[in-house]
Amino acid sequence: MSYCPDCGATVVPHVVAGEQRKHWFCNRCGVPRHEHPMVVVTCFVACGKRLLWVQRNLEPKRGLWAIPGGYLEGGETLAQGAARELYEEAGVRLPPQRLQLYMTGTITFINQVYVAFRASVDSDDCQPGVESLACGFFSRRDCPWDQVAYPEVNDSIIQAYDDLERGTFGVWQAEMSASRYVLRAVDQGPQAPGVC
Ligand SMILES: [Zn+2]
Repeated sequence: MSYCPDCGATVVPHVVAGEQRKHWFCNRCGVPRHEHPMVVVTCFVACGKRLLWVQRNLEPKRGLWAIPGGYLEGGETLAQGAARELYEEAGVRLPPQRLQLYMTGTITFINQVYVAFRASVDSDDCQPGVESLACGFFSRRDCPWDQVAYPEVNDSIIQAYDDLERGTFGVWQAEMSASRYVLRAVDQGPQAPGVC
């Protein structure tokens, strides 16, 4: 942040009792100015062993492929936001209650929090919306790995294919900084038969 979003004045680091905080301060408005993380909602939609991908029609990364998703809007629940993005980007209309919590993550270096849901559909019907050039369901082998918009989150997508193949879904938490990516299971999901 360089300028106050309300008055446009230059912001300065907020100093409290001689200690510099991790946010800004507008001297003209006399209030702290925070850069809260943006919340990104996504949904992995499976048809059989294939996942829904969309080809972006927006900058940045126009022409590259991603799992459908976008920024949560004010007044939406997480699942409502993910369902809206699915419809806007791929024409897939699912009621928010059909989406199941799947992954949460923090991407510290771009100041984002993401929440991913999963859902399955019987039909692979989809239709690119204004925000996408194309969309489609791809198997792990056929998906456009060399044209991925956000390779930073490829591990999450690989995990989704792994879970699809196992037929068992856990709940995952990812922590991503510029130097490190950790994806760990919060809940392993139902155990495979025969496992104690
Ligand atoms: Zn201001």
